[in-house]
Amino acid sequence: MATRPTERLGVTTLEDISALILQSHDLDDTLKNIVTLVAKRMRTEVCSIYLLDEDDCTLRLRASKGLSRRAIGKVTLQIGEGLTGMAAQERHAVTIQEPQSHPRYRYFKETGEERFHSFLGIPLFDRKHPLGVIVLQTKETRLFSPAEISALSTIAFQISSIVINARLLDSIRLKEEESSRFARELEHTRKSLLSRETALQDSGETALRGTVAYPGVVSGPAHLLDERLGFSDILDEEHVEVEREMQRLEGALEKTRIQTIFLEKRVAERLSQDDASIFHTHLMILEDRGFLDKVRREISGGHSAPYALKKVVDDYIEAFARMEDPYLRERAADMEDIGRRLLANLVGQGEHLLHLKTPGILVARELLPSEMASLDHEQILGIVTEAGEKNSHAVIMAKAMGIPALVGVKGVFKRLAPDAPLILDANSGCLYINPPPTVVEEYRRLEADCDRELSRLEEFRDTVAATSDGERVVLRANIGLVSDVAVALRNGAEGVGLYRTEFPYMARGSFPDRDDQYQLYRKVIEGFAGQPVTIRTLDIGGDKVLPYFTPPREDNPFMGWRSVRVSLDNRDIFRTQLEAILMAGVHGPVKLLFPMISGLEEVRACKLVLAEARANLAREGIAAAERLPLGVMIEVPAAVQMAPQLAREVDFFALGTNDLIQYMLAADRNNPLVNKYYDPLHPAILRVLHEVAEVANREGKGLCLCGEMGSDPINFLVLLGMGIREFSMPAPFIPRTKALLARLPLKVARKAAREALTLVDSISIRAHLAKVLSSLDRDL
Ligand code: PEP
Ligand code: MG
Repeated sequence: MATRPTERLGVTTLEDISALILQSHDLDDTLKNIVTLVAKRMRTEVCSIYLLDEDDCTLRLRASKGLSRRAIGKVTLQIGEGLTGMAAQERHAVTIQEPQSHPRYRYFKETGEERFHSFLGIPLFDRKHPLGVIVLQTKETRLFSPAEISALSTIAFQISSIVINARLLDSIRLKEEESSRFARELEHTRKSLLSRETALQDSGETALRGTVAYPGVVSGPAHLLDERLGFSDILDEEHVEVEREMQRLEGALEKTRIQTIFLEKRVAERLSQDDASIFHTHLMILEDRGFLDKVRREISGGHSAPYALKKVVDDYIEAFARMEDPYLRERAADMEDIGRRLLANLVGQGEHLLHLKTPGILVARELLPSEMASLDHEQILGIVTEAGEKNSHAVIMAKAMGIPALVGVKGVFKRLAPDAPLILDANSGCLYINPPPTVVEEYRRLEADCDRELSRLEEFRDTVAATSDGERVVLRANIGLVSDVAVALRNGAEGVGLYRTEFPYMARGSFPDRDDQYQLYRKVIEGFAGQPVTIRTLDIGGDKVLPYFTPPREDNPFMGWRSVRVSLDNRDIFRTQLEAILMAGVHGPVKLLFPMISGLEEVRACKLVLAEARANLAREGIAAAERLPLGVMIEVPAAVQMAPQLAREVDFFALGTNDLIQYMLAADRNNPLVNKYYDPLHPAILRVLHEVAEVANREGKGLCLCGEMGSDPINFLVLLGMGIREFSMPAPFIPRTKALLARLPLKVARKAAREALTLVDSISIRAHLAKVLSSLDRDL
């Protein structure tokens, strides 16, 4: 046989595998064809594929060319067991001559493999989750060359994608188990497909993958949220037609006025009349003769309408920014906002900006928290972003509203036309563009399943959150906007464990004054009628910027001037917020929470400002909450170390795992490149969470975990087992968590946590916890 360069071997085999997929009927058929092809190309007597069972621990022989047919589907080994298990555990190629004499060798008599004298095993995996192993064996003693190992690794990578996709399609096809299957699929696909960014082709139509941020299945037209157009993008044009530019301006003005009236109405409904009044000011500017005449004069002078607008808006902003009066200075931000919206309409992008007329799936390159705050949520069926991570704040807001969301969908923008029909499967992490009728049909059924599942979960809304053996757990909601209150109540939240007060600040044009804030907090507190509301002071910085409060440029904003650091450096703003919280605390049980605390000095400084706020109110004769339990977020590693001392200063801790994980593991919560390092089940994370739980219990302090990790069942299991009894999460996750609790005995969770804390890598931890979870399903 003519020998082929090994790299070519890899490439041609890949091409042939692609062709094979089209001919195969199902996953087993595909695997059978692949092993036959690879054995032939690699000139080995045996090629076998082992895949991980749903328990995430057991490797099962699924296809083999060369081993006894009887062994297929029967031979199993655990991760770490035998040479095959070793390749899966160590996640790299294992190549061995005379495998029988290796200490890790395991013999299965069903396979008849004693005849083979060399072994090459390459793991299949999806990012960090093992999927299986592909194994080659030869009768003669053979040393596999590095080039052969590399070729097989490339093939293994492709097989991994096939396995993931085929499992998804299989599971869609197999519809027998209705809602119990749905629950398993949700878990399984969420685990195995998370973070995949590769696009797959589906009979000419496109299916793209992304990371599931909030699960669910929806379909509808694409609403493209175009890139924000900045004035810096506008250049002067030569030879403009004055008449045409004037008409462009008038058209854009008209559109912008109408949009502004809409915005005013929406914000009045979702926030408050006061918040909406900003748009009234915008309308007045849009009608202002002086402003309009200046733009028209620039156009008459031979400039294009966008350039004329840029020039006038820049002049206004500069003039406002120089003003003494703070009120007038703030108008610079209004001017910028109006300018931006007018500009978008001038260049024909205004239709897409923040104005959704009909229900659809919102597709954005990136979604800012401020946009999320002002969008009409009723019209958003689902969210798809190219950039952004699961824990970015805009996505956190989507979760709080229960909107299915997929992030990190690479290249989605360039493949989409406005209004293109989409199916967003945020259970398995797939977005279908222009789906063919067969897929539409399948998904209609899946959507119905989802609805059924949601109605099933609704039953849990009014049940008490407790384990199956009666241990009481408290489930509160994370909220940001006033509109989240209704969602939280609908999902049976026991009050609020985390009110992110920066979110309403983001939806506004300027800093709210004390009374505005008081009214807002009061609305939330009264909404929960007697249930506690934990109000966290401003946590701006990082990815949360206020349009009217521009922080200095920082190379590393998450490690920079953020959160309580900004508050302590802006005492007036901080004191005003504390006064508003104290005033609102008269209307119901409120707890006060300080974010990003790294040591005692900051807590003491915060308490001083709180004392000043109290004194101010007393001086003014305004009623203030008498007792306000104080808490600190434990989200900086230093705070974990200082937890015993901090416990003496405060009444409760709030575990902010979103930040704690990023700071502990040095992995930015918003950076997809380091997503695999951002791991809630890293043993170091479990250890610190356990430590904080122990300190809180020992010191008799409250502890509420309010990071996103608490809403994932696998994490919840270990957290509960460690002794955490209070959680705050996006409200739509509450009924699911109650449903999980109802079938979970506390002793099972405790044992699972004890065992997890002895394990030293997150693969084993995850596998162990997954096994415990799946045993719950079996015992049902
Ligand atoms: C956290 O860090 O876990 C947290 C709840 O706060 P945020 O996500 O608002 O930073
Ligand atoms: Mg945080």
